[in-house]
Amino acid sequence: MPTKINETHDPDLKSWVESANDPETDFPIQNLPFALFARKGSGEMPRAGVAIGELILDLGGCHESGLLGGSLWHVGARCSLDQLNSLMEVGGETMLSLRRRISQMLNADCDEIRDDSHLRDSLLVPMSEAEFFEPGDIGDYTDFYASVYHATNIGKMFRPDNPLMPNYKWVPIGYHGRASSIVISGTPVRRPNGQTMDDHASSPVFGPSRILDYEMEVGFFVSKGNELGTPVKIDTAEDHIFGLCLVNDWSARDIQRWEYQPLGPFLAKNFATTISPWIVTTQSLAPYRIPAFPRPAGDPAPLEYLDCVANRERGGFDINLEVYILTHQMREQGLAPYRLSAGNTSHLYWTLAQMLTHHSSNGCDLRPCDLIASGTVSGPTKESQGSLIELTSRGSEPLHLPSGEHRKFIQDGDEVIMRGYCEREGFRKVGFGECRGIITPAIDY
Ligand code: CA
Repeated sequence: MPTKINETHDPDLKSWVESANDPETDFPIQNLPFALFARKGSGEMPRAGVAIGELILDLGGCHESGLLGGSLWHVGARCSLDQLNSLMEVGGETMLSLRRRISQMLNADCDEIRDDSHLRDSLLVPMSEAEFFEPGDIGDYTDFYASVYHATNIGKMFRPDNPLMPNYKWVPIGYHGRASSIVISGTPVRRPNGQTMDDHASSPVFGPSRILDYEMEVGFFVSKGNELGTPVKIDTAEDHIFGLCLVNDWSARDIQRWEYQPLGPFLAKNFATTISPWIVTTQSLAPYRIPAFPRPAGDPAPLEYLDCVANRERGGFDINLEVYILTHQMREQGLAPYRLSAGNTSHLYWTLAQMLTHHSSNGCDLRPCDLIASGTVSGPTKESQGSLIELTSRGSEPLHLPSGEHRKFIQDGDEVIMRGYCEREGFRKVGFGECRGIITPAIDY
């Protein structure tokens, strides 16, 4: 079941951390996303932290200072570890208690940390003085293909008369990605080399990809897992979702085009996948739940194992997603990042719960901290298309940037920046922070 709205979402809550009360912050006291971080240059082990305004509350430190006592002691101990796997696994009421406790400690009226200069100095770290890590040991990574608009746009390029494959509206399509090359926001991404085949060439060539693209996605981390052979049912699927992050599924379209048949994406995708450091929990997102995608008349209803009332009524998420570009020349000219697209997860044909349910339906075991991504989030309008291959119509309609440059695809020195946020009347805006990656030149063979 989707989590419920409670007192931690009260829009009138304020924090004694002043920057958290800025109406524009991604991280008000109503959000409280988790990340794995360490103080830059300290040599300390990474630990769990929660974002509050421009600061990080060191949860590992809270545990060591005895601030997470009683029934929260054992969950506090998991915050001191150098991976969030075991914290993610906790789930349920215990995680809700942890959220309530963090909200209480950061509340403007709570003097526990606020009035203790030693605790304040030791437990609060400016984000600018922190480094971030992948949240844990990501054992497996799966990428779905859940936007019907994206699937249709891409399908049209290859099969203009019959863009959507006959299985699309019945079965959530996905592929197994590569967990080893998932990198945290800010990590430079090297342009991949690979084998490509030009239209009229007689043989393929090997070299740097010339058609490098991004894909704007959200991903979720698995909370508690399931035993091999024991599927997760749709009505409990949300209990297995810890929280969401931003995902850039970098894609080398020329490599992809030559290699994808018959087994799907391989080296076109697994050279790098960038994720944002902050994981916004499903608890935090309770106010931004919406019905599952409204299937147009004539579309089949989901098969029974992918359908339940709670999923139909509140299975969707209303998350705004944006992609910006900052080229080398734009940086030289002091220009701000330029927005390429703006979409929303409401355009996903399948809900995250349906993806997780389908993934485990054959008995496949999912484990805490597995990453499952949505696929490119594209909507019905041009602006809401979540990749350059769509925005530029396969490179035939280049985009014009404020620097006077144009782009068909990503060039060396370009930085791609993704942002996400949720807004709803009567609630505080919450955000995901950023997912950034700059492309560096390919290795010279
Ligand atoms: Ca993808």
